[in-house]
Amino acid sequence: MEAAANIAGGGIVAFPTETVYGLGGSALCPEAVEKIFLAKGRPGDNPLIVHIAYFWQAPFLVREVPIKAKVLARRFWPGPLTLVMPKSPAVPEAVTAGLDTVAVRMPDHPVARELIRLSRCSIAAPSANISGKPSPTTARHVLRDLYGKIDGVLDGGPCEVGVESTVVDVTSRVPVLLRPGGISKEQLEETVGEILVDPNIKEPNGDVPPRSPGMKYTHYAPSGKVFLVEGEPEKAAAWIRRECLVNREKGRRTAVLCSRETAHFYNGCVGSNGFVEVLGSKSELESVARHLYSALRRCDLENIENIYLETYSAQGIGLAVMNRMYKASGSNIVRV
Ligand code: AMP
Ligand code: MG
Repeated sequence: MEAAANIAGGGIVAFPTETVYGLGGSALCPEAVEKIFLAKGRPGDNPLIVHIAYFWQAPFLVREVPIKAKVLARRFWPGPLTLVMPKSPAVPEAVTAGLDTVAVRMPDHPVARELIRLSRCSIAAPSANISGKPSPTTARHVLRDLYGKIDGVLDGGPCEVGVESTVVDVTSRVPVLLRPGGISKEQLEETVGEILVDPNIKEPNGDVPPRSPGMKYTHYAPSGKVFLVEGEPEKAAAWIRRECLVNREKGRRTAVLCSRETAHFYNGCVGSNGFVEVLGSKSELESVARHLYSALRRCDLENIENIYLETYSAQGIGLAVMNRMYKASGSNIVRV
C-alpha cells in the first residue's frame, strides 16, 4: 500500500478509524510528528495518541502496562478507548508534548489496522482536522481542511462512531476519565470498578486545569455562534423557534441541529438560507454522536451565523455528545 510506504518513509497520511479520521505519521520519527503539528496548526503542548494494531506493540511504547490497563485493553481493544500510561524513553518528546505519559489506542477499523501493519510502525495520529475545527468523519472533510498540506488520505467512507475515543489515565490506582468518547463511563466502571472524572468534562472553563491538555482548547467549533439550549424539551424548542423566527425576519442564516423527537417544532421557522438537520433520536444517542460533526461542518459550508443545539441525556455516549456540544458552543449555554 502506497500510504504505508509513505508513513514508513516519514510522510503523513490521513486514514479512517471507527471514531474519526486521523492524521498519521510514524510515532518514532520526530520529523513526521513535527509535520503533523504543522499541518494541523496544533499547539505544541497538545500530545498525540499512538495507534497500534497488535497488543505486543504496547510494551515498546510504555514503561509498564498497569494491571487495570491490561483489563481495559483486553475488553475494549480494538475499539474507541485510549489508555494513558507511563511513557517509554523510545517515544519522542514531541509525541507526548513533554509529558512522562503516552496515550495508546488500538483502532477497530480494517483500513487503520492494515495501514499500521503494512507500515510496520506505531502511528501517532490526532484527528485530521485544522486545530479547533470539528473532527473529520469523512475523507472529504479531511481534504477541505488539509488539502495540499498532507501526503494523502485513505477513503474508508463515513466513520461509525463519529466522536473521538474515550481517554482514560490508568497511571493512578483509580483510573481517571480525561475525555468521554466511544466507550462509556458505565462500560469502564463495569470492567474495572471506580472511575474518577476530570471535572472539565461536564462543563469546561472550571477552576481546575484539565489533565488532558487537548481539553483546554476551544474545540469542535464551527465559525457561527453556537447556542446550546438547556431546559425541558418543549420549552427549549419553543425558545429556539422564537429565535429562528427573529433571525429569519433579519435575514440571518440560521441552523437548528435537533433530535428526531423535536424536529416538528421547527417546521417552517428557518429561512431558505438556513436549515434544520436531525442528528438522531434521543433514544439512540449513537446516531446523534455519528452525525454531530458533519452537521457542524455543514454550518460552516453554508456560512451559518447562528446555530442552535438541544441538550441530551449524559448517559452512555451521551456524556461525549454533551461534552462536544459544550465545547462547540464555547460554553454559550442558554437555560430556559
Ligand atoms: P485527538 O487525537 O486530536 O483527538 O487528541 C488527542 C487527545 O488525547 C487530546 O485531548 C490530548 O490532550 C489527549 N492526550 C494525548 N496524550 C495524552 C497524555 N499523555 N496525557 C493526557 N492526555 C493525552
Ligand atoms: Mg482532535
